[in-house]
Amino acid sequence: MTEQKLPLRAKLATSVSRTAAALSRAAGRGDGSVIGGWIGLKIDPQLLAHLAAGRRIALVSGTNGKTTTTRLTAAALGVLGEVATNSLGANMPTGHTSALAKAGHTPYAVLEVDEHYLGQVMEATTPAVVALLNLSRDQLDRAKEVAMMASLWRDAVRGRDIQVVANADDPMVVWAARAADQVTWVASGQRWHDDSWVCPECGSHIERESGIWWCTGCDLRRPTPQWRVDDDAIVDPSGTHHAVALQLPGRINRANAATALAVAAHFGVRPTDALPRLALVTSIAGRYATVQRDGRTIRLLLAKNPAGWLEAFDMAEHAPTLLSINARDPDGLDTSWLYDVDFSPLRGRRVLITGDRAMDLAVRLEVNQIPFEHVPSWRRALAAVPSGRLEVIANYTAFQDIRAELDRVN
Ligand SMILES: [Zn+2]
Repeated sequence: MTEQKLPLRAKLATSVSRTAAALSRAAGRGDGSVIGGWIGLKIDPQLLAHLAAGRRIALVSGTNGKTTTTRLTAAALGVLGEVATNSLGANMPTGHTSALAKAGHTPYAVLEVDEHYLGQVMEATTPAVVALLNLSRDQLDRAKEVAMMASLWRDAVRGRDIQVVANADDPMVVWAARAADQVTWVASGQRWHDDSWVCPECGSHIERESGIWWCTGCDLRRPTPQWRVDDDAIVDPSGTHHAVALQLPGRINRANAATALAVAAHFGVRPTDALPRLALVTSIAGRYATVQRDGRTIRLLLAKNPAGWLEAFDMAEHAPTLLSINARDPDGLDTSWLYDVDFSPLRGRRVLITGDRAMDLAVRLEVNQIPFEHVPSWRRALAAVPSGRLEVIANYTAFQDIRAELDRVN
């Protein structure tokens, strides 16, 4: 549907939504995408559906990696034409509404969706493809909430005329996705197992052995993936190996790229056409950003939850590593999750710690018998390490603090 054909109320709501977003930006209150979308939806509750109509849409959801996978998928679909996307991570309906209003008419859209809102956003946008990445606890959420989320996803995909692209290595995702009629499985990996030892179908124990998993009590087991990662290559359903050279670090980002290619393939994009575009994707909202400062090459890795920490250890190079932890509202106030993460991959590296809750981290590292140095600020960490590389792994607000500091100095 072109904008001219929108119902009057939707047209008005779109225009107000854009104006509000612009005003909010002008007032220096963020990028305005949430407030703009919120006002637009107040005027026309169906605005998201109206703006989605006529576009071919892919949704991307999961606990970790959705911002990056959304960016990679949007880059891949760019082969076909213009793509609207909520690249700033405003991943609830207000953010989607604002992103589509701002983009104007585009034939395609790729939207990152907060996992709680997947059903609602599917209802409003009738996507062609939905990518389900992973489910694990986010800060305070425990395994029980993970099972509940899997159940919500299952209800969302059941009996719908959509193509699901799902992670074959995450039992909770597989259980949810297999309720859908059409599923493409991607072997995206699962480094974090602690939220999926219990089968969501029958409550029995899930066994794992050399990359395969199965339930000991029912037929839930790892499906055969059509797409997989093989070292530095992505293998497509025909068995063809495609060499990938990403600017984003780690195996997890090659897996995210495999998901992006699998989604794009359902829109008719060939991997060979998409890959050069994926190689252009750099840091996302400062994540993975590399900054030069005082002769040091600093790389920032954001780790929001236990699964994210394990991935970050994998991505970080063997170099001095600064860990920074806060426990403010957006991080979750409880730091007991530190005991869910195995810090032993850091053994043998020089480890520095900082942040509001550095002492909690200190106790945790003691338990893991990893030597560390406490520094009062990240700048002191910078001064303490020799020139060369410094890896920084931080949780949400600690990451924002460091970003702000770097921007100020710039
Ligand atoms: Zn079972």
